[in-house]
Amino acid sequence: MKARTKIGLFLSLSILIGTAFTGCSSVLLTGRKQLMLVSDQQVLALSDSSYQAYMATATVSRKTTQNALVARVGQNIARAVESYLTQQGQSEELKNYAWEFKLVVDTAVNAFCMPGGKIVVYEGILPVTQTEAGLAVVIGHEVAHAVAKHSNERMSQQMAAGVGASALDALLSGSSTTTRNIAQTVFGLGAQYGVTLPYSRKQEYEADRLGLIFMAMAGYDPSVAVPFWQRMSSQSNSFVPEFLSTHPSDSKRIANLQAILPEALGFYKK
Ligand SMILES: [Zn+2]
Repeated sequence: MKARTKIGLFLSLSILIGTAFTGCSSVLLTGRKQLMLVSDQQVLALSDSSYQAYMATATVSRKTTQNALVARVGQNIARAVESYLTQQGQSEELKNYAWEFKLVVDTAVNAFCMPGGKIVVYEGILPVTQTEAGLAVVIGHEVAHAVAKHSNERMSQQMAAGVGASALDALLSGSSTTTRNIAQTVFGLGAQYGVTLPYSRKQEYEADRLGLIFMAMAGYDPSVAVPFWQRMSSQSNSFVPEFLSTHPSDSKRIANLQAILPEALGFYKK
Protein backbone atom coordinates (compact mmCIF):
# COMPACT_ATOMS: atom_id res chain seq x y z
CA MET A 1 0.00 0.00 0.00
CA LYS A 2 1.33 3.42 -0.95
CA ALA A 3 2.07 5.76 1.95
CA ARG A 4 -0.40 8.35 0.73
CA THR A 5 -3.18 5.76 0.48
CA LYS A 6 -2.31 4.55 3.95
CA ILE A 7 -2.51 8.06 5.37
CA GLY A 8 -5.74 8.63 3.47
CA LEU A 9 -7.26 5.47 4.88
CA PHE A 10 -6.05 6.35 8.35
CA LEU A 11 -7.66 9.79 8.07
CA SER A 12 -10.84 8.26 6.72
CA LEU A 13 -11.01 5.83 9.62
CA SER A 14 -10.22 8.54 12.16
CA ILE A 15 -12.96 10.77 10.81
CA LEU A 16 -15.39 7.90 10.65
CA ILE A 17 -14.55 6.71 14.15
CA GLY A 18 -14.56 10.28 15.42
CA THR A 19 -17.99 10.78 13.93
CA ALA A 20 -19.13 7.45 15.26
CA PHE A 21 -18.00 8.48 18.70
CA THR A 22 -20.07 11.64 18.63
CA GLY A 23 -22.75 9.87 16.61
CA CYS A 24 -23.69 7.39 19.30
CA SER A 25 -27.09 7.64 20.86
CA SER A 26 -29.39 5.39 22.82
CA VAL A 27 -32.87 4.10 22.08
CA LEU A 28 -35.84 5.46 23.99
CA LEU A 29 -37.07 3.09 26.74
CA THR A 30 -34.63 0.27 25.97
CA GLY A 31 -31.48 2.40 26.41
CA ARG A 32 -29.60 0.31 23.82
CA LYS A 33 -26.61 2.19 22.40
CA GLN A 34 -26.64 2.62 18.65
CA LEU A 35 -24.35 3.93 15.94
CA MET A 36 -25.66 7.12 14.31
CA LEU A 37 -23.54 8.53 11.51
CA VAL A 38 -26.31 10.34 9.66
CA SER A 39 -28.04 13.46 10.96
CA ASP A 40 -31.79 13.47 11.63
CA GLN A 41 -32.24 16.19 8.99
CA GLN A 42 -30.45 14.08 6.37
CA VAL A 43 -32.52 10.98 7.13
CA LEU A 44 -35.75 13.01 7.15
CA ALA A 45 -34.97 14.69 3.80
CA LEU A 46 -34.14 11.33 2.18
CA SER A 47 -37.15 9.63 3.71
CA ASP A 48 -39.46 12.44 2.66
CA SER A 49 -38.37 12.25 -0.98
CA SER A 50 -38.72 8.43 -0.98
CA TYR A 51 -42.18 8.78 0.57
CA GLN A 52 -43.30 11.40 -1.97
CA ALA A 53 -42.02 9.21 -4.82
CA TYR A 54 -43.92 6.23 -3.39
CA MET A 55 -47.16 8.19 -2.86
CA ALA A 56 -46.99 9.55 -6.42
CA THR A 57 -47.41 5.97 -7.67
CA ALA A 58 -49.79 4.71 -4.96
CA THR A 59 -53.59 4.93 -4.96
CA VAL A 60 -55.17 6.08 -1.72
CA SER A 61 -58.04 3.82 -0.67
CA ARG A 62 -61.61 5.07 -1.18
CA LYS A 63 -62.93 2.90 1.64
CA THR A 64 -64.21 5.56 4.04
CA THR A 65 -64.54 3.43 7.17
CA GLN A 66 -61.14 1.76 6.76
CA ASN A 67 -59.45 5.08 5.97
CA ALA A 68 -60.88 6.54 9.15
CA LEU A 69 -59.72 3.47 11.07
CA VAL A 70 -56.11 3.87 9.89
CA ALA A 71 -56.15 7.60 10.68
CA ARG A 72 -57.65 7.00 14.15
CA VAL A 73 -55.18 4.29 15.18
CA GLY A 74 -52.27 6.29 13.71
CA GLN A 75 -53.27 9.46 15.53
CA ASN A 76 -53.79 7.65 18.84
CA ILE A 77 -50.36 6.04 18.65
CA ALA A 78 -48.68 9.27 17.46
CA ARG A 79 -50.25 11.15 20.38
CA ALA A 80 -49.06 8.48 22.83
CA VAL A 81 -45.50 8.65 21.45
CA GLU A 82 -45.45 12.45 21.58
CA SER A 83 -46.71 12.66 25.14
CA TYR A 84 -44.19 10.01 26.19
CA LEU A 85 -41.32 11.94 24.53
CA THR A 86 -42.50 15.12 26.27
CA GLN A 87 -42.70 13.37 29.65
CA GLN A 88 -39.16 12.10 29.15
CA GLY A 89 -37.91 15.64 28.57
CA GLN A 90 -37.33 14.92 24.88
CA SER A 91 -39.81 17.40 23.42
CA GLU A 92 -37.06 18.67 21.07
CA GLU A 93 -37.55 15.32 19.25
CA LEU A 94 -41.12 16.26 18.27
CA LYS A 95 -39.86 18.45 15.43
CA ASN A 96 -38.65 15.25 13.72
CA TYR A 97 -42.25 14.09 13.13
CA ALA A 98 -44.75 15.29 10.54
CA TRP A 99 -47.27 12.46 10.86
CA GLU A 100 -49.30 11.17 7.92
CA PHE A 101 -51.57 8.14 7.87
CA LYS A 102 -52.50 6.57 4.54
CA LEU A 103 -54.42 3.47 3.55
CA VAL A 104 -53.44 2.48 0.00
CA VAL A 105 -55.00 0.18 -2.58
CA ASP A 106 -52.73 -2.87 -2.61
CA THR A 107 -53.59 -6.49 -1.94
CA ALA A 108 -50.15 -7.17 -0.42
CA VAL A 109 -50.11 -7.94 3.30
CA ASN A 110 -47.90 -5.03 4.26
CA ALA A 111 -47.48 -1.74 6.14
CA PHE A 112 -44.59 0.60 6.91
CA CYS A 113 -43.70 3.79 8.75
CA MET A 114 -40.99 6.01 7.30
CA PRO A 115 -38.67 8.06 9.53
CA GLY A 116 -40.60 11.22 10.35
CA GLY A 117 -43.90 9.39 10.91
CA LYS A 118 -45.22 8.66 7.43
CA ILE A 119 -47.43 5.63 8.02
CA VAL A 120 -48.68 3.58 5.07
CA VAL A 121 -51.05 0.62 5.50
CA TYR A 122 -51.94 -1.64 2.56
CA GLU A 123 -55.59 -2.72 2.24
CA GLY A 124 -54.33 -6.32 2.05
CA ILE A 125 -53.21 -6.39 5.70
CA LEU A 126 -56.64 -5.49 7.13
CA PRO A 127 -58.09 -9.03 6.90
CA VAL A 128 -55.14 -10.18 9.05
CA THR A 129 -55.28 -7.35 11.60
CA GLN A 130 -59.08 -7.92 11.87
CA THR A 131 -59.76 -5.41 14.67
CA GLU A 132 -58.73 -1.87 15.63
CA ALA A 133 -56.39 -3.27 18.31
CA GLY A 134 -54.98 -5.71 15.73
CA LEU A 135 -54.13 -2.78 13.47
CA ALA A 136 -52.58 -1.00 16.46
CA VAL A 137 -50.12 -3.93 16.76
CA VAL A 138 -48.87 -3.25 13.22
CA ILE A 139 -48.85 0.55 13.44
CA GLY A 140 -47.30 0.47 16.93
CA HIS A 141 -44.53 -1.81 15.63
CA GLU A 142 -43.84 0.32 12.55
CA VAL A 143 -43.88 3.58 14.53
CA ALA A 144 -41.44 1.96 16.98
CA HIS A 145 -38.94 1.41 14.12
CA ALA A 146 -39.21 5.15 13.34
CA VAL A 147 -38.97 6.32 16.97
CA ALA A 148 -35.98 4.03 17.63
CA LYS A 149 -34.37 5.49 14.47
CA HIS A 150 -33.65 2.04 13.09
CA SER A 151 -33.27 3.38 9.52
CA ASN A 152 -30.55 5.78 10.59
CA GLU A 153 -28.81 2.96 12.47
CA ARG A 154 -29.09 0.64 9.44
CA MET A 155 -27.69 3.33 7.12
CA SER A 156 -24.85 3.96 9.57
CA GLN A 157 -24.04 0.25 9.75
CA GLN A 158 -24.00 0.06 5.94
CA MET A 159 -21.63 3.02 5.79
CA ALA A 160 -19.36 1.68 8.54
CA ALA A 161 -19.25 -1.72 6.82
CA GLY A 162 -18.01 -0.06 3.65
CA VAL A 163 -15.27 2.01 5.29
CA GLY A 164 -13.29 3.56 2.48
CA ALA A 165 -13.54 6.34 -0.03
CA SER A 166 -17.14 5.84 -1.15
CA ALA A 167 -18.52 5.45 2.37
CA LEU A 168 -16.61 8.47 3.53
CA ASP A 169 -17.82 10.52 0.57
CA ALA A 170 -21.35 9.45 1.32
CA LEU A 171 -20.93 10.44 4.92
CA LEU A 172 -19.39 13.82 4.31
CA SER A 173 -21.31 14.95 1.27
CA GLY A 174 -24.77 14.31 2.63
CA SER A 175 -26.83 14.04 -0.49
CA SER A 176 -24.43 11.97 -2.59
CA THR A 177 -25.75 9.17 -4.78
CA THR A 178 -24.22 6.60 -2.42
CA THR A 179 -26.15 8.01 0.54
CA ARG A 180 -29.36 8.03 -1.48
CA ASN A 181 -28.78 4.46 -2.63
CA ILE A 182 -28.11 3.30 0.91
CA ALA A 183 -31.21 5.16 2.10
CA GLN A 184 -33.44 3.58 -0.51
CA THR A 185 -32.12 0.13 0.29
CA VAL A 186 -32.71 0.73 3.97
CA PHE A 187 -36.17 2.30 3.58
CA GLY A 188 -36.94 -0.64 1.29
CA LEU A 189 -40.21 0.44 -0.24
CA GLY A 190 -40.82 -2.99 -1.66
CA ALA A 191 -39.55 -4.17 -5.00
CA GLN A 192 -40.02 -0.69 -6.41
CA TYR A 193 -36.53 0.34 -5.37
CA GLY A 194 -34.85 -2.99 -5.91
CA VAL A 195 -33.08 -4.72 -3.06
CA THR A 196 -34.47 -4.16 0.39
CA LEU A 197 -32.55 -4.56 3.59
CA PRO A 198 -34.71 -5.92 6.39
CA TYR A 199 -34.17 -4.68 9.91
CA SER A 200 -31.97 -6.88 12.09
CA ARG A 201 -33.47 -9.36 14.54
CA LYS A 202 -32.33 -7.12 17.39
CA GLN A 203 -34.20 -4.18 15.86
CA GLU A 204 -37.27 -6.32 15.21
CA TYR A 205 -37.49 -7.44 18.84
CA GLU A 206 -36.92 -3.88 19.98
CA ALA A 207 -39.75 -2.67 17.69
CA ASP A 208 -41.99 -5.42 19.10
CA ARG A 209 -41.26 -4.27 22.66
CA LEU A 210 -41.67 -0.54 21.98
CA GLY A 211 -44.66 -1.19 19.72
CA LEU A 212 -46.53 -3.06 22.46
CA ILE A 213 -45.78 -0.25 24.91
CA PHE A 214 -46.93 2.47 22.49
CA MET A 215 -50.18 0.65 21.66
CA ALA A 216 -50.83 0.14 25.37
CA MET A 217 -50.21 3.85 26.05
CA ALA A 218 -52.66 4.64 23.22
CA GLY A 219 -55.36 2.58 24.99
CA TYR A 220 -55.14 -0.69 23.03
CA ASP A 221 -54.80 -4.05 24.76
CA PRO A 222 -51.27 -5.28 23.88
CA SER A 223 -52.20 -8.92 24.51
CA VAL A 224 -53.85 -9.05 21.04
CA ALA A 225 -50.32 -8.99 19.57
CA VAL A 226 -49.79 -12.72 20.15
CA PRO A 227 -52.89 -13.89 18.21
CA PHE A 228 -52.12 -11.29 15.52
CA TRP A 229 -48.62 -12.70 14.89
CA GLN A 230 -50.04 -16.24 14.98
CA ARG A 231 -52.55 -15.26 12.25
CA MET A 232 -49.70 -13.65 10.32
CA SER A 233 -47.57 -16.81 10.50
CA SER A 234 -50.45 -19.04 9.38
CA GLN A 235 -50.64 -16.95 6.17
CA SER A 236 -47.35 -18.41 5.03
CA ASN A 237 -48.95 -21.77 4.21
CA SER A 238 -50.36 -20.46 0.96
CA PHE A 239 -48.01 -17.58 0.15
CA VAL A 240 -45.46 -15.44 1.95
CA PRO A 241 -46.87 -11.97 2.57
CA GLU A 242 -44.46 -9.08 2.09
CA PHE A 243 -44.73 -8.09 5.75
CA LEU A 244 -43.90 -11.65 6.82
CA SER A 245 -40.86 -11.86 4.54
CA THR A 246 -39.23 -9.02 6.50
CA HIS A 247 -40.91 -9.95 9.79
CA PRO A 248 -40.35 -13.64 10.49
CA SER A 249 -43.14 -14.83 12.75
CA ASP A 250 -41.74 -17.97 14.27
CA SER A 251 -42.00 -19.54 17.70
CA LYS A 252 -39.08 -17.38 18.91
CA ARG A 253 -40.92 -14.17 18.07
CA ILE A 254 -44.13 -15.37 19.73
CA ALA A 255 -42.19 -16.46 22.85
CA ASN A 256 -40.48 -13.06 22.95
CA LEU A 257 -43.84 -11.28 22.68
CA GLN A 258 -45.20 -13.35 25.55
CA ALA A 259 -42.14 -12.46 27.65
CA ILE A 260 -42.46 -8.70 27.08
CA LEU A 261 -46.25 -8.56 27.44
CA PRO A 262 -46.33 -7.99 31.24
CA GLU A 263 -44.16 -4.87 30.85
CA ALA A 264 -46.50 -3.47 28.14
CA LEU A 265 -49.59 -4.31 30.20
CA GLY A 266 -48.16 -2.02 32.87
CA PHE A 267 -48.74 0.89 30.46
CA TYR A 268 -52.28 -0.21 29.53
CA LYS A 269 -55.14 1.71 31.13
CA LYS A 270 -58.52 0.20 30.33
ZN1 LIG B 1 -40.39 -4.57 11.90
